[in-house]
Order: sequence, then C-alpha cells, then structure tokens
Amino acid sequence: MNKLVLLIGAGFSCAVIGRELAEAGHTVTILDARDHIGGNCHTERDADTNVMVHVYGPHIFHTDDEEVWRYVNRFSTFKPFVNRVKTTAKGQVFSLPINLHTINQFFGKALRPEEARAFIEAQADTSIENPQTFEEQALRFVGKDLYEAFFKGYTQKQWGCSPTELPASILKRLPVRFNYDDNYFAHRFQGMPENGYTPLIEGILDHPKITVRLNTRFTRDMAAGYDHVFYSGPLDGFFDYELGRLGYRTLDFERFTHEGDYQGCAVMNYGDEQVPFTRITEHKHFSPWESHEGSVCYREYSRACGADDIPYYPIRLVKEKSLLEQYVKKAREVDKVTFVGRLGTYRYLDMDVTIREALDTARGFLNHLEAGKAV
Ligand code: UDP
Repeated sequence: MNKLVLLIGAGFSCAVIGRELAEAGHTVTILDARDHIGGNCHTERDADTNVMVHVYGPHIFHTDDEEVWRYVNRFSTFKPFVNRVKTTAKGQVFSLPINLHTINQFFGKALRPEEARAFIEAQADTSIENPQTFEEQALRFVGKDLYEAFFKGYTQKQWGCSPTELPASILKRLPVRFNYDDNYFAHRFQGMPENGYTPLIEGILDHPKITVRLNTRFTRDMAAGYDHVFYSGPLDGFFDYELGRLGYRTLDFERFTHEGDYQGCAVMNYGDEQVPFTRITEHKHFSPWESHEGSVCYREYSRACGADDIPYYPIRLVKEKSLLEQYVKKAREVDKVTFVGRLGTYRYLDMDVTIREALDTARGFLNHLEAGKAV
C-alpha cells in the first residue's frame, strides 16, 4: 500500500531514502530549513570567479563500496580526482598523509621503505600497547616529532581540546605509508561530480513522487498525517534540546579571491598551533578539468558550535557520549520516526557511508512493509 512519508533534511541521507521509497511507489515529502538542497555537501558557483565552491568545506567522494559508487554515478558524471593534501608546518610544506616523502623530508633522510619503517618504529613509543587516545595513537604509530609537527596543533585547533582527551579513532582515519603514495584516501573509487554535489543530489530527488520544500523548519506537529518520518536533523533538536545540547564543532570560512593560483593545491593544512586557521581550501583545484583565471579560497576556522551555528563535527567525548545515550533511549521510544545520517545519529560520517546506510535503511523499511509489519 502506498505510504505517505515525510523526510527531514535534503542531504544525502534523506535524498537517497526518499528516492528508494519513491521508486517503490510511496509518496515522499522532503523538508529542509535552508534555502538549498544538499546539506553540508552543497556546492555552488562563486559569483566573482565562477569557480565551483564547496560552500561548507571540502568534500571528496571516495569509497570501496561498489554499489554506492555505481549509485552516485547514476546521477552525475564523476571526474577523476585524487586528493593530495599538503600541510605547512614550521615554515615548510610537507605531503600528507604521512608517507615516505614526508618522512624523508622531515628528517632530512633518503630512506627506503623498510628503513623508514624501522626508523619510525624506533621513534614510536612502543610501551603504549593499546592506544586509547588520539595522542597515544600518534605517539605509538608516528612518534613524538611527527605528532607534534603535524597533528598536535592541528587537532587542538580542529577539536578545541587536547589530543589527550580525544579518542584514537579520529587519527585512525589517516594512514601512515612507507611508500610515495600521497593519495589521501586508500579507497578504490574516488572522484568529483562534474557539476558539483548539488546537481547530483538534485538528480536523486528528481522523481515524480518526491516533493521538496525548502525554507521549512520541521516541528514535530508536522508529522501528523504521515505514515512515517525519517529525520536527519540534529538528534537533540528533535527533542527541543530538553536534556541539553550535544556538542558539535562548527566552522567559519573566511573567503578571499586571488588572481591566478594561490597555493597550487586544493587543500593546504596548517599544523602550527599559532596559525589560527586549520586549513585553506582553493576550490578551483577541485575541478582541474575546468579553467579559471581567478581563484577563490576559504580559510577555515573551527570553534565550539553555538545554538545558532551550523553543526559540523560531532564531538563525542565522554560527556557527549553519556548525553547521547539518553537521547538514543528517547529516540527508541518515538513511534514511526527513524533517525538517520550524521546529525540524526550524531556520528562523523563520510558521504559514502551515509549513502550506504541510507540504502540499507530504505530497504529495511520496504522489507518491513512487504512483510506486513507496522512501520
Ligand atoms: N589531522 C591532523 N592534522 C592534519 C590532518 C588531520 O591532526 O593535517 C587530524 C585531525 O584531528 C582531524 C583528523 O586527523 O580531525 C582526521 O582528519 P581528516 O582529514 O579525516 O579530517 P576531515 O577532513 O574529515 O576534517
């Protein structure tokens, strides 16, 4: 039977779930409080330079999930793009993620892979058997000098707290390589949607059974009349923050333009703590197949997220985790609502994982319906 489904948030989560349900014949309404679709993946052309800008910071599509890769390629042509990040630290530019070039440059050596491995192992604090914190993970796997140059200051700026307070899992996102591979991501599939992420998500939403309403902030009374709600807004916001706010980091972008090429790459990190920003993104390098005379860059600053700010990174320290547990308990008690995505589940999610989870959620829902169960 045809269901009326309401989805909150027009980012990847609800776009993908909405599409799957619409294709199965259900009637889908998607609301978003902002004046554009795409959530924090939103891209648009810069008014001065015409460069495609990642409005809410750099998004590079990378995945090992073949089905997800095929899925996004259905809605946009993907151009080859390999993310090669640089970092400025102590007055020099190095290659990230830490690779053989970084190690040789940093220590002024000409080591071969096995020599470098042994060299780094000698720097590492092997007394740390089971690293729990970000700092322990760094000291165990790269040693004090590289940690202090590349991770300590950056992480302090990014998260607003000491790396001794952060979980090891954050650093586990970054590999250490004993070869010259400077591809930031180790996934099989990587690329950029040719015309940006917003047209890609527009393509997903382009279905006769999907209606999108922008500039519409969800309140719980709007769920009346719908058979089910998928909610990708902030989990605590759904409950009007009644137990307090889950902590997020927000970002401020300081835009500037430049004639020609400002930094020669898309992303330049700044490892030194004294530099107040974490990185500079030069957007035209995300579209190397286009040609632009002018350039637009964003200096990126991270800070604690206030009530009126856009949430980016869930903090997930001990304090937040216990509040999260309380909200998750409340969420389980809400009938006919599924909480999805980065904000709805309060997790640091890459785009491909978001899409994978959205596909699985939609399929689970449809199977449930098919089995005649209540939704
Ligand atoms: N990180 C760092 N120095 C860098 C890049 C990353 O210390 O130059 C740390 C930082 O704590 C960051 C984490 O590694 O939050 C994960 O990095 P990633 O590039 O995945 O962060 P994202 O681009 O998602 O913000």
